[in-house]
Amino acid sequence: MKLIFEKSVKGRGLSLLKEPDVPEYALSEGLLRKEPLDLPEVSETDISRHYTSLAKQAHGINDGFYPLGSCTMKYNPKIDEQVASERAFTALHPLQPEESAQGALEVMYECSKSLCEITGMDDFTLQPAAGAHGEFTGLLLIRAYHESRGDLKRTKIIVPDSAHGTNPASAAMAGYTVVNIPSAPDGCVDLEKLRAVCSDDTAGLMLTNPNTVGIFDKNILEITEIVHSAGGLCYYDGANLNAVMGIVRPGDMGFDVVHLNLHKTFSTPHGGGGPGSGPVGCKSFLSSFLPGKTVVRNDDGSFAFSVPSDSIGSVRSFYGNFLVVLKAYCYILSLGASGIPDTAKNAVLNANYLKHLLEKNYDMAYGGICMHEFVMTLEKIKHESGVSALDIAKALLDKGMHPPTMYFPLIVHEALMIEPTETESKETLEQAAEAFTQIYEMAVKDPEYLRGAPYNTPIKRPDEAEAARNPVLRYIPEK
Ligand SMILES: *Cc1c(COP(=O)(O)O)cnc(C)c1O
Repeated sequence: MKLIFEKSVKGRGLSLLKEPDVPEYALSEGLLRKEPLDLPEVSETDISRHYTSLAKQAHGINDGFYPLGSCTMKYNPKIDEQVASERAFTALHPLQPEESAQGALEVMYECSKSLCEITGMDDFTLQPAAGAHGEFTGLLLIRAYHESRGDLKRTKIIVPDSAHGTNPASAAMAGYTVVNIPSAPDGCVDLEKLRAVCSDDTAGLMLTNPNTVGIFDKNILEITEIVHSAGGLCYYDGANLNAVMGIVRPGDMGFDVVHLNLHKTFSTPHGGGGPGSGPVGCKSFLSSFLPGKTVVRNDDGSFAFSVPSDSIGSVRSFYGNFLVVLKAYCYILSLGASGIPDTAKNAVLNANYLKHLLEKNYDMAYGGICMHEFVMTLEKIKHESGVSALDIAKALLDKGMHPPTMYFPLIVHEALMIEPTETESKETLEQAAEAFTQIYEMAVKDPEYLRGAPYNTPIKRPDEAEAARNPVLRYIPEK
């Protein structure tokens, strides 16, 4: 497809911008460009077709099934967008006096309160802009706590090998040494291994529960107890809380700090590096360390910003991605107290139904009931036919589906990690299972065909390492 610059024809144009409603201002000579900007010159028809065909090159949640494990690519209700595009919210300035933005402060206050209720925490910061950013923030809270007690020898964070990849990265970023512990054969934390690494240099444990293989750790209370008795704190990666929200709470499982991905569980759009939000909740003994400004309610019912007394400082400008928080709050209110556990139940039911349908042809990495996602291992298929997890993922593209997460978690070979989410219908899950069945039959019959897939997409098999390391993102015009 040609770039918009390459479609440019000198002298062609369109006028989408309105006439200015303020007087023109003459800039001084030194501020003016010497040459006009090299902008594409196209008609309104051209530009409209250009962006429509660009949109068709990608697969979004509005195009079809998107079971990208751990990413929770679910349908985001349009009402959230509608509320967040109200001028009363979009025209706010982050520096305007708090008396003039009471509604926005109330949204932040009430959203924090709802998140406390859902997670069993006492306080929240809405500042972090992503899940990994929340992890980093939470670890700084843990560090501030140990330092405030003069307990400086705690330099290690324990991370099970079934954790999300961002967990060890965040711990290292926060200056900790990462202690990796292997999982037991059932996919849960190995308690003996955990006991063996806990000591007076343990700052804390980071746990993703349900973990990245879709299993809720049955020993969760024992795990937090082991870490606490060694003097460490427990961090809960709640990016995928949609498996358990309204059913169990991290606070009740013994966790001290938690982050949530509003752009997963709480249904705000994500992907493409767009705005996210990774609020961090904590138990009251950590509240005074929270970053930035939090919102408090005064005795007269008005809202005000307040900086916690021992704050670790700001982790982002202003109050975080306010409009993302607003969408999430809208989502929480529209689900209500009964909708939240129903959502979790449907996420788990959908994953188990699809898992059951796929079990006929595909091996699962772990048996039993899963939570919101499950992991298949294609080792046997690879061995028998040479068809890899990558080939199957590519073939799914031709069936109009986004592939599952591939080769993750690292502890499962030839892994495909599937998360259908709660917003898919029974029919969609059955169609997806049918596509997987057809691909399996093809793997048996004509593996060579699958190695050439996809056949119907604009891009086939890019060199992924090259695309990630050396992307060509700049257009340099020919002179
Ligand atoms: C997505 C995810 C993260 C990271 O969230 P980002 O917003 O991408 O930084 C962390 N942990 C888990 C379990 C996740 O699924």
